[in-house]
Amino acid sequence: RSFDDAGLHPIMLENVKLCRYHNPTPIQSYCIPAVLTGRDVVGIAQTGSGKTAAFLLPILSKLMGKARLLAAPRPNPSRYNPATDRVRAEPLVLVVCPTRELACQIFDEARRLCYRTMLRPCVIYGGAPTRNQREQLEMGCDILIATPGRLMDFIELALTNMCGFTVIDEADELLSSGWEEAMEKLFQGTGSDTNTDADHTYLMFSATFPKSARKLVREYMEPEYLRI
Ligand code: AMP
Repeated sequence: RSFDDAGLHPIMLENVKLCRYHNPTPIQSYCIPAVLTGRDVVGIAQTGSGKTAAFLLPILSKLMGKARLLAAPRPNPSRYNPATDRVRAEPLVLVVCPTRELACQIFDEARRLCYRTMLRPCVIYGGAPTRNQREQLEMGCDILIATPGRLMDFIELALTNMCGFTVIDEADELLSSGWEEAMEKLFQGTGSDTNTDADHTYLMFSATFPKSARKLVREYMEPEYLRI
């Protein structure tokens, strides 16, 4: 298979070339069409399998297809609230992952794949001052990549018009390190009960598939399973 007939937006194809990715990896071959057709996905795959591009390429493609969304300048949705010392953010895509290193890797890839799209990625993580992250968010944030602690402490995720995609990366790591309840809350907040956007898509990537991950999937997702 090749990227050219995967149904990606032309700008994504150009960015794939700039990244020098010649052929899709197996997880990309399966994940790209599934996300493009609007499916939730559970991907059981190792780091190094190309899973970051596997979810970013179809998500960005879909956002690029929403001409209305991108035609008008979007109102700057990220605003600092001095009363709570938090930032109110309304990203289109939320990616949660367990470590700062992984968050920064995903951000790097997002930056490359967002080239010439008008979509703006931001990354936030703990163990660093909030000021710079706040300034970045205030410049606009379409793709928010976050570690869970900083996300919970620092961001007021807006419930209306919320991001259309939630990605949980390295879910097994996240869930085994005390974030089970936080992830549950996150899924509740973005779920169809409270969210007017019935099209919200959930993606989960994990090297293993423990009970805690299965529970989240059972309760909140209707996924296609990809095991690589
Ligand atoms: P990941 O599994 O997302 O951490 O990706 C692992 C590495 O593979 C990263 O350095 C990517 O830049 C690279 N990569 C992702 N997709 C491809 C591809 N289709 N061809 C070659 N390299 C890729």
